Amino acid sequence: MSSPSISVQIIGSGAVRALPERGGPCYLVTIDDRKLLFDCGRCAVHNLHRFGTPVESIDEIYITHLHFDHISDLPLMLLLSWNNGRDARIPVFGPKGMDRFLENGVRTAYEADINSRISHGNRVRDKLDWAATEITKEGLVYGNATYRIDALATAHAGLANWNYRITVGGKIIVITSDSEPDQRLVEFCRGADLMLVECSGTKAFYESVAFGGWHITPEDVGQIARDAGVKQVVLKHFVMESFSDDPDVAEKMAETVRGIHAEGEIFAATDGLKFEL
Ligand SMILES: [Zn+2]
Ligand SMILES: [Zn+2]
Repeated sequence: MSSPSISVQIIGSGAVRALPERGGPCYLVTIDDRKLLFDCGRCAVHNLHRFGTPVESIDEIYITHLHFDHISDLPLMLLLSWNNGRDARIPVFGPKGMDRFLENGVRTAYEADINSRISHGNRVRDKLDWAATEITKEGLVYGNATYRIDALATAHAGLANWNYRITVGGKIIVITSDSEPDQRLVEFCRGADLMLVECSGTKAFYESVAFGGWHITPEDVGQIARDAGVKQVVLKHFVMESFSDDPDVAEKMAETVRGIHAEGEIFAATDGLKFEL
């Protein structure tokens, strides 16, 4: 059996506040012709098209947690892919409460629009549907003959919160959620070829804001990636940039991680950055 082709692209490298050069959290994993989307934040739909992936071509969606920066484009994704001719129920995996978010945020919120479009006769109500799976336990979320997705729960802002690991063709890719530092991430990331990891800000920044305790520091990222032997580390979700005049915040945090995990290749994410594995 030949190995699958695997690529990982940063669709949105940013976080909560709008920055013209960074979309909100969204990452695309392509395995052969199968497209898996992780989180669907601000500008996800726009950036997917910008980088050559029409929304109706997405096959599976995985959501880390229900902070709006990670899901604000999800209703648009479901509506637009339906409008554009998606003809399969798209599986959406995520935390408890996600199905309610989708029912309220898509079917109820857009009821008038949906009824109007159906009255044209060229769209069928059923095709708007999605297949939501709310994850209730750690471990296997989804698997087939080519790849498997595992989830790990970590603490973040009192929310149900899932980190994801994709195992495919002898490669391991980890996409972390926003998270407090957690030593269990070391085992979860063990031997990973690629890790996309939250790096919202520095310790000093966290001490200056109310939500600082919800997040991981560059030092923690470096230690976890080093102890897990991660080969390539991509920092993402740069909250601090929106609070700082320093244009090099992300690169400086990458430098801190390099100082701890010298064996690894460390990148500060940009929108569109793509890795072939
Ligand atoms: Zn976030
Ligand atoms: Zn969050």
